[in-house]
Amino acid sequence: MSCKEDRGTVKIVDGRYKPSGKFHYPAPNTPIWNDKGELAGVTNPRDIVHIHSYGGEAIFFESLGKGKLMASRCDNPDCETKGSIYMPFRIHCPDCLFKNTVLDITDRAKNNAIVHSFMITERTGAFNTLPTPIKFVNVEFDGVCTILMGALIRGEPKMGMRVVPIFKTKNPDYIITDMCWVPADWPADDLPEGYTY
Ligand SMILES: [Zn+2]
Repeated sequence: MSCKEDRGTVKIVDGRYKPSGKFHYPAPNTPIWNDKGELAGVTNPRDIVHIHSYGGEAIFFESLGKGKLMASRCDNPDCETKGSIYMPFRIHCPDCLFKNTVLDITDRAKNNAIVHSFMITERTGAFNTLPTPIKFVNVEFDGVCTILMGALIRGEPKMGMRVVPIFKTKNPDYIITDMCWVPADWPADDLPEGYTY
């Protein structure tokens, strides 16, 4: 039996595997061949669950599934930058390290968000779930001192164009893709499955 070209092989040097090629087999007991075409082992897939704790950001992710965009604001009277509103959500003020106040900016996002800049990419990282090409937009909100990156899921991006958020209110995943962007006035019946204004 010979090595299949689309599978990884190992070179065994001093009893240690030096892998090359593809090794992500979803099935158990897939043979692994060495560079001479001899059996070197089998796959033994394992699942791990990494518990990613949201801590003080939980309110942000939970709100997306309810169609709400939560920002945060420094209300420390002694802070030089008091009143600054942060989106992406920041648990603490970067200037005074005071705990920020949670602030609902859903209406602001629906009425006053524009594309500050954008980029389009064909190549993605591992585990990407967005359709390619991905149109990343940096969204600017009226009165917010930071800019939020998101995905424009309908239409073509242009600098200065008005965009509105859409939320995955049906079966939310509690991750950032629960919110995407579409051009203002995009028809509500042409949103991705599970998303609403
Ligand atoms: Zn502050």
